[in-house]
Amino acid sequence: MKEIILAKYGEIALKGDNRNTFEDMLVKNIKRRLKKIGKFEYFRRQSTIYIEPLEDADIEQALESLKNVFGIGAIQRCAVFEKDFDVVAANVGEYLKPALENAKTFKVEAKRSDKSFPLKSPDIQQKLGDVVLDNFPHLGVDVHNPEVTVRLEIRDNGAYLSAQRIIGAGGMPVGSSGKALLMLSGGIDSPVAGYMMAKRGLVVDCIHYVSPPYTSERARMKVEKLCEEMTEFCGNIIFYCVPFTELQEAIRDNCPEEYFTVIMRRLMVKIANKVCKRDKYGAIITGESLAQVASQTLSALGCTNAAAEFPVFRPVIGMDKIEITEISRKIGTYDTSILPYEDCCTVFSPKHPRTRPSLEEIIAAESNFDFDKMIDEAVEKTEVKRFRYGEKTVFLE
Ligand code: ATP
Ligand code: MG
Repeated sequence: MKEIILAKYGEIALKGDNRNTFEDMLVKNIKRRLKKIGKFEYFRRQSTIYIEPLEDADIEQALESLKNVFGIGAIQRCAVFEKDFDVVAANVGEYLKPALENAKTFKVEAKRSDKSFPLKSPDIQQKLGDVVLDNFPHLGVDVHNPEVTVRLEIRDNGAYLSAQRIIGAGGMPVGSSGKALLMLSGGIDSPVAGYMMAKRGLVVDCIHYVSPPYTSERARMKVEKLCEEMTEFCGNIIFYCVPFTELQEAIRDNCPEEYFTVIMRRLMVKIANKVCKRDKYGAIITGESLAQVASQTLSALGCTNAAAEFPVFRPVIGMDKIEITEISRKIGTYDTSILPYEDCCTVFSPKHPRTRPSLEEIIAAESNFDFDKMIDEAVEKTEVKRFRYGEKTVFLE
């Protein structure tokens, strides 16, 4: 019996003329991911990518890793037969046994996209339901809340029988929207922000600012670990690690304390601007959430934003911590995010930050010192590292 995976499009199915580009990108991402698992053959038809395992590629493992590929709406594991109801019926007992022998209830869904097939969908449903009951008489039918849904799709090129459908990651294929630079701290919010923008089709690379000796090697490793975890959804990630100590000390020595955090954030953004220009990123992403802390009030965000020369995406801006945390658990970054290592933001953080700074005040507060040269130096000394999907290289106890 030949088994195959059908990856059905999510939002791509709604695209018009340019749909091909999105499909190409999705197939490329899927191939890249499954290469690690074994050999597969691919073709696409009717808003679906057909993925056929060759030799002894592990289909279970393939399903597992396709779950996190953006652009896929649903993933189905199927057996393929010729378009003859009797042939399908003859195989129901054997193929559906693992799924149905211990189940209590089921229903059948049939879809006939090949309209030349002699039975209409409701008839297929009826007949297949009978065949299932003949083979598994212990089962009950439950059309509202079945334990197992048996699907039969009569497509252009075959009849596809399935008892296993997984909801896909949704969104758009990574890379189909261009690329952006995520300001990644060690906290809960920024990995979630990166995940959300990758879901909209962006390649997400990460920039992180460190201030040794105020921040430790451990803290940096924690952020690298987050990068590694994010590859599960984002694919390969380039990680930029910016030495930020001198800039922070310059802020400490030359600016009024109450403005430290906002000025620091602005300098981070100015460094990100330069990396974006040099390496062709189209946007900056942050994990800022309105009102979460003093540096994320409307006025403070306005001041930070004014330093940006690229669009700044803040996908968690309207979410509360509980919602962000929920996503963080779902995507598997939470446990690393809560490890108690310091971030450079907590270095020299003011006791009484101004919560409503105006841009004029901030610019005046920055004017005692010329940060430009140091910014260029920081960009020059930035270390670059690559994290590849599926590779585990960071070990934190
Ligand atoms: P997160 O949970 O993402 O760390 P946070 O509330 O701890 O958020 P803040 O200190 O409020 O972080 O920073 C807000 C945003 O600024 C972060 O989401 C991140 O995008 C960026 N940021 C903060 N610190 C750093 C850093 N050291 N390197 C890179 N980006 C940073
Ligand atoms: Mg935050």
